[in-house]
Amino acid sequence: MRPFLVVGNWKMNGTRESATQLVNEILRGPELPATAEIAICPPFVYLADMARLLNGGTLILGAQNLCAEDNGPYTGEVSGSMLRDAGCRYVIVGHSERRNLYAENDALVARKFMAAQRAGLTPILCVGETLTQRQRGETHAVIMRQLMAVLDAAGIDAFDQAVVAYEPVWAIGTGKTATSAQAQEVHALVRACISAGNARIGGAIRLLYGGSVKASNAAELFQMPDINGGLVGGASLEAYEFIAICKAAI
Ligand code: PEP
Repeated sequence: MRPFLVVGNWKMNGTRESATQLVNEILRGPELPATAEIAICPPFVYLADMARLLNGGTLILGAQNLCAEDNGPYTGEVSGSMLRDAGCRYVIVGHSERRNLYAENDALVARKFMAAQRAGLTPILCVGETLTQRQRGETHAVIMRQLMAVLDAAGIDAFDQAVVAYEPVWAIGTGKTATSAQAQEVHALVRACISAGNARIGGAIRLLYGGSVKASNAAELFQMPDINGGLVGGASLEAYEFIAICKAAI
């Protein structure tokens, strides 16, 4: 199994000063576990500053979004190759905030996933159901639809260099975490779906859980058989809380 992956999604928070302080606190804090890759995803404008601070060390850089196109007349957009240039290795695609607030549909998410890979970035594909969808018993159908849209467009082999994050929308930023059993059930579904296309890729792919992960619940989530790390929002803005979550990685 590949090492666990813990990713901090800073969203649209902080200043250059607070971002610098946060990274310095993580770098100078208690030693990060060797069993996990740890990545941070700052806002675009701080990527270059953070890359200089990280200086190719163990803490990895990722981005929160990218353009589905490689270059050209797309005012305000940032391409995968620009993110590579800035020092990123990972990029989040299909975060529920992008899907819900910026109307990114499954087809666009699939195009962003492929654009990331064309640029040599590893996409972290987010999937997740809303509370209403869960209450209606639609969780599996929603997850499968979001996953199949990318599998159909990119092909199973593309998942050899990809990460999937299950993020129930009702758990993001709400303080409500999925139980480890609820998370495991969906992770098992995602792994089974990918394994049906290629057993080796399905067995090896890292599946992250995201949604109000904290130091107090990370260990229980991370011990589930199909959870291979976390996508952490709010708690990644506190160095010691984030380090404690990383330390729960198996
Ligand atoms: C996220 O931003 O992907 C996320 C899971 O946020 P939080 O940890 O704050 O719920």
